[in-house]
Parts: sequence; structure tokens; C-alpha cells
Amino acid sequence: MTTNPLPSLIPSERTVTSNGSGPEIAIVGGGICGLTVAVALEQRGLSPTVYEAASAYQPVGAGILLQTNALLVFDCLGIADAICDAGKPLDEGGLRSPDGRFMTRFDLNDVERREFGYGFVAIHRADLQRLLLDELDTDVRTGMDCVDIDGTDPPVVHFADATTITPDILIGADGIHSTVRDVVAPGVEPRQLGGVAYRALVTLDLPAPYQTQGFEIWGDGTYTGGSPIDENRFYWFATAPDPLTDDYATSDAVPLALRTRLAGYPEPIPAILDGLTPTDLIMTELEDLPSLTAWSRNRVVLAGDAAHAMLPFAGQGAAQAIEDGLLLADAIAAHERYDRAFSAYESERKPRADRIRRESYHLGRLGTMQSPLGCRLRNVVIDAVPDAVLRHVRRRQAAGTSLPG
Ligand SMILES: Cc1cc2nc3c(=O)[nH]c(=O)nc-3n(C[C@H](O)[C@H](O)[C@H](O)COP(=O)(O)OP(=O)(O)OC[C@H]3O[C@@H](n4cnc5c(N)ncnc54)[C@H](O)[C@@H]3O)c2cc1C
Repeated sequence: MTTNPLPSLIPSERTVTSNGSGPEIAIVGGGICGLTVAVALEQRGLSPTVYEAASAYQPVGAGILLQTNALLVFDCLGIADAICDAGKPLDEGGLRSPDGRFMTRFDLNDVERREFGYGFVAIHRADLQRLLLDELDTDVRTGMDCVDIDGTDPPVVHFADATTITPDILIGADGIHSTVRDVVAPGVEPRQLGGVAYRALVTLDLPAPYQTQGFEIWGDGTYTGGSPIDENRFYWFATAPDPLTDDYATSDAVPLALRTRLAGYPEPIPAILDGLTPTDLIMTELEDLPSLTAWSRNRVVLAGDAAHAMLPFAGQGAAQAIEDGLLLADAIAAHERYDRAFSAYESERKPRADRIRRESYHLGRLGTMQSPLGCRLRNVVIDAVPDAVLRHVRRRQAAGTSLPG
């Protein structure tokens, strides 16, 4: 049986008029979270304005893996099929050891697609962004860099071009280095795990098994993997304990260093590394946020990485941001009073997002472990995890916010 377990969760108190009048809602940050919450608010009859710092949306960037819970949200917003068409639906995934053997292997047609209707989809980030932008009636205001907020009630939002706004509700969807967060959780800074992640989209002829397979390889102090995003492009990532060179965007030193670090890895990694050029590479610090005491203060509320940025090892950061988008819009549409809306949203979302953030942190510690003995021990333990435990974890992740935990 396939069911989407994400119904409208909150009984409606608010009457939204058909001309869309309602509170003035400003969303700072037009990334995956900001755009998702904007689409969801519009579909509920509200008219938010998105303020994005970048001067324009560029068709650049890496890929992203959207797991079942993210696709269930997009199903509620009516765009899951378009996302599956634009990306690459996967049939299987899993963890491999450096000799190529699967330590755990997930048949995504079994649990995820059979029980929830969607498996995983890997997609170019720019394509996802375009699909979300296409859904919006209102234009996103680009080039609007929020530089400061007076935490008054209502808040006064200042932009770099000297514009100020005073919205009824301010949503901070401005990522891990959020400016809006300073109002809600002053002084909270990202935590460094140590090390960096490299990402790239590599064009190559993928051998048959990798056409619909995502995987990670956990080696001795090395971690790499990825997924195809179409017939001949692969979204690849790897971690390194340091940036390998300061000049990563122009120098051949990083591809060379990566080929050395990952030498001996199984296919398709050698072919991917051969296809890497310095300009393909995006480097990101491995960092997350500590758990915040609260996600809102007065009329200001956080969502996505601004609220719960997590390490990328569970592949859930964007999925959690996307769950926030739907649940926050539902709560705002359902409650006349913003404090009730924020408290309903936070009680639905914070425990789950915090748990997944903690799990990603532990996975990150394990995945980036440098001791060869520790790494071997870790892989023996992963090998021994019973299938029933993995299926339970997969169901809990896939089900989204509507199920406990
Ligand atoms: C290496 C790596 C791999 C990952 N892979 C996956 C994956 O496969 N699957 C997955 O689910 N997640 C993944 N993630 C996590 C995912 O990228 C993030 O969780 C997700 O992008 C968060 O979306 P967001 O909209 O909250 O924040 P962001 O994507 O950071 O977007 C924030 C937006 O706000 C804008 N902004 C910032 N400051 C301001 C300001 N002052 N004023 C106005 N606008 C501003 C930015 O320009 C940006 O557009 C990965 C992360 C990393 C680092």
C-alpha cells in the first residue's frame, strides 16, 4: 500500500480570503527552504515576499539527493512528479567498503517506494530551484542582503541597499550563517567538525549498475560517494581532513590530491576522479549548529539550516528544511495568532529535526574517522547491523514529520 502520511496536520483557525489578504509575511533567504515555504504559503492563500541576497539565481551548483520524506512534502505541494521527471529516481542505495562490497544495501523499491510511493531522487540543485520558482506567483526579490534586524515587535528588517521593512511575520530561511537567527538565538554560532566536503557534477558514461544507484564508500579516513542525476552526469562528494590546498578553484592540486587519497577505490570512483577539473569543485566546511533553545521570538521564526543546520552525512539537511516549509506554512495558515502558529510548528518539527541533526553529527564523526583500526572496527559493526534495524530506521526517516520521532 502506498500512502502519503503528511495530511494537513493542524486544524484551521484562520480564514484566508480568496484575494489572498492576510498578514504581511517576509521570508529572508530564497534557498530550498525559503522557496518551499513561499510555495506552501501561496497555496494556502497567503502572499509572502521572498528577499534573497544573491543578485540572481544562477544555473550552477552541485546535485542533491532528495529522500522519500522530502518527496512526500513535494507531493503535498503538487510538484513531486515534476521533480522526479527532472531528476533521476534511484532504485537502490547503500554503504560500501573500499573493496566495493556493499556493507548495507537498500532496495528503494521495497520499503520506500512500495510503502510511501516515492524512493529517492537525485537532481541538479538548479533544476530544483527552477521548479520551485516556477510554482511561485510573486517574484522573488533578489539582491536583497539582510544586514540587521531590530528585534522589536514588529521587527524592523534592514537590507544592504538601505531598504527597511516591517512585516507582520518574519521567516528566517537564510541558511547556517543566518542573520535573522541573531534575533531568536543571539550568539549561537556554527560548530566545526573539522575537515571539508568536496562536491562536483561529473560528466561520464556510467556503467549500468550505477545508472540508478546511489552509494557511499567508507574507507580508512576517507569517505566518498554520490548518485547519478541523469544518464551521463554523476553528483559526487568526498570529505578531506583539510582543504588540501588554498587555491582549490584553479589549481590541479586538489583533483590530484583526491586521486591519491581515493586511490584503489572501486568503480565508478576512478572514472569520476579522472573526469574532475578544479572548476567543477565546490568546497564546504563541515559544520552544523547546536540545538537552539527556541526557533522563534515574537514575530520572528526560523526554518531550514537557519534553525537546525546539520552535517551532510544523513543526506537529510534539505529534506528537513523542506518539511519545515510545509509545516510552517500549514501552521501560519491555520492560526490567527502567530505565537500559536510558531508553537504548533516548533512542537511538530523541532524534536525530529534535532534528532536527525544529532544522528548526522554521529555519522559524520564515524564517516570522517582517521584511525585505520577504528575505521576497520566501524565497518565490521556496520556489516553486522541486522536488516530489521535498518528497515526500521528507513521507515522512520521516510515517514516525515507525521510519525513520532
Ligand atoms: C556537502 C553537502 C552536501 C549535502 N547534500 C545534501 C543532500 O544530498 N540531501 C539533503 O537533503 N541535504 C543535503 N545537504 C544539506 C542542504 O544543502 C541544506 O540543508 C539546504 O540547502 C538548506 O536549505 P536552506 O534553504 O535552509 O539554506 P541555504 O541552502 O543555505 O539557503 C539560504 C539562502 O538564503 C540566502 N541568504 C543568506 N544570507 C542572507 C541574507 N543575509 N539576506 C538574504 N538572503 C540570504 C542565501 O543566498 C541562500 O539562497 C548537503 C549539504 C552539504 C554541505
